[in-house]
Amino acid sequence: MSDCIFCKIINGDIPSSKVYEDDKIYAFNDISPQAPVHILIVPKEHICCANMITPDNADVVAHIFSKVGEIAALAGIKDEGYRIINNCGKNAGQTVFHLHFHLMGGKDLGEKLV
Ligand code: 5GP
Ligand code: ZN
Repeated sequence: MSDCIFCKIINGDIPSSKVYEDDKIYAFNDISPQAPVHILIVPKEHICCANMITPDNADVVAHIFSKVGEIAALAGIKDEGYRIINNCGKNAGQTVFHLHFHLMGGKDLGEKLV
């Protein structure tokens, strides 16, 4: 999608700090980290948000979760633990409308929402 900041990052039009990449997904460090490790994992296919995950494209979400442990290991936090967050829509504060999962850790993350 031409006006999507994460599509531009995936294409290399906007620079990013890559952590992991394969044919389906891209993972990179968040520009404004909220924890010592704060990685964004995105599908290369433009999907706006969790609302638009369907049986036709859900395989990429399964693929992301199949790689989470490997990406956490690359960041050195696999064994100590981490949190995965997806914000969908206004009330969750989603700011970039290209589906992404925040992988956060590197410290005790403290209070849980759930
Ligand atoms: P959301 O609030 O939509 O769940 O998360 C969007 C995330 O994208 C934020 O944590 C924000 O810091 C990050 N972000 C926004 N623009 C850029 C960018 O140009 N580069 C990188 N690496 N992260 C970005
Ligand atoms: Zn996009």
